[in-house]
Amino acid sequence: MVRTRIAPSPTGQDLHIGNLYTALINWVWARKNKGQFIVRIEDTDRKRYVEGAEKRILQTLKNYGLDYDESVDKGGEYGPYRQSERLDVYKKYIDKLISQGKAYYCFCSPERLTKLREEQRKQGKMPRYDKYCLHHFSKEEARRKVERGESYVVRLNVPENKEISFNDMIRGRITINTNAIDDQVLVKSDGYPTYQLAVVIDDHLMKISHVIRAEEWISSTPKQVLLYEALGWKLPTYAHVPILRNPDKSKLSKRKNPVWASWYLSEGYLPEAVLNYLALMGWAHPEEKEIFSLTEFIDVFNLKDIKPVGPVFDIVKLTWMNGEYIRRMKDEVLSKKLFDFFKGKYSLNLIRQSVPLVKTRIKTLKEYDKFCSFFLKAPQSYEKDLSHSLDILRKVKAKLELVGTWKADKITNEVVSIAREEKIGVGKVFMTLRVSITGKKITPPISESMEILGKDESLRRIDDALKFYQA
Ligand code: GLU
Repeated sequence: MVRTRIAPSPTGQDLHIGNLYTALINWVWARKNKGQFIVRIEDTDRKRYVEGAEKRILQTLKNYGLDYDESVDKGGEYGPYRQSERLDVYKKYIDKLISQGKAYYCFCSPERLTKLREEQRKQGKMPRYDKYCLHHFSKEEARRKVERGESYVVRLNVPENKEISFNDMIRGRITINTNAIDDQVLVKSDGYPTYQLAVVIDDHLMKISHVIRAEEWISSTPKQVLLYEALGWKLPTYAHVPILRNPDKSKLSKRKNPVWASWYLSEGYLPEAVLNYLALMGWAHPEEKEIFSLTEFIDVFNLKDIKPVGPVFDIVKLTWMNGEYIRRMKDEVLSKKLFDFFKGKYSLNLIRQSVPLVKTRIKTLKEYDKFCSFFLKAPQSYEKDLSHSLDILRKVKAKLELVGTWKADKITNEVVSIAREEKIGVGKVFMTLRVSITGKKITPPISESMEILGKDESLRRIDDALKFYQA
């Protein structure tokens, strides 16, 4: 049975776009193998805990349509799914590790640790704990100190100079020598387990078959492998997906790209387009297709085909892809999405009428506003000076007043005939008209827009422009 998970920590504003990518890969792997996708909340770092983050993370996953089978708000057989509610679960294993000598109590003061690190650095060594407490206190002595109420942490007893190996579905065999690994703290002085300990216990107890996570966790894996060995558990299958990069190859960061997954939705990106784009990070469709559905992704995806090299997350490319999704959408579907996106600012009726005019021009839902806000509000100013075009505007108005059935082709015919009579370029007359009606130089086709606005409103706006420049 394939069981995958993401284990977000509620320490940020929302789900990071990189975490959304990891979530997608976990999700697709579970769906492909008819398995389960689990969301576990890793909230043992109380110092970095952000109120409300958990709720936002789960909501964002739902908004993207990455449905999960077990989590804090869904329940499941292996709960609780919030680590802070599992402290009693960890206790048993901590005791076991200590009694076997795989872990030990450490009473060193922060001052001693700082001094130790400084000295090691001065000697050009990697700062590591020197196992002082392991060598100076017998298990019984240590236990007595703990019972007396002394402050302590529990550390992993990492063996010296041992090669730790594990297989990674994306990277092959990875081997790291324990000399590069510190005696990791497993239980902090506040009694909470650290990530390293809790992740192993939970992945095991929750029967996670594939640990799919970002490459930044590779260096943690040997410590976790040691814990699996110490506890006598079978290793899960690992796959460390590449970290997304900015176009200049630096690590994806707030300064170069918006990093919160919900930001993209609030800017009018479609969840399916964002996921499609993320699917292409480090992976290519076997037929080199760029646009495909999630169902197709489930069909053709294989975890081992992900390339480990840092893929570039380019918002320009994503925006292009989003535009493609918009263009391929049925008008009615797009209309409803726009209606929801603007929360009633535009009537569904107006959206339905205008969608065919802007569908090929907008790349995000939000851009609709840029093109269509003039429908709601007459211009207060004009992007182009009309003071030298008042004559022609008056003539256009006079002709349009006579138009019976107010249709785009009738409006166009009148404008064209005026241009001919006056020997002015058709484009120029249209531009003057466009600016007078909308205030803008770039708009949807103007005759069609005027048809939607209606005759009275259109003529009133021409009048307003005339008055604006005559005053
Ligand atoms: N809590 C870790 C995080 O914040 C989970 C890492 C893992 O997947 O093991 O991403």
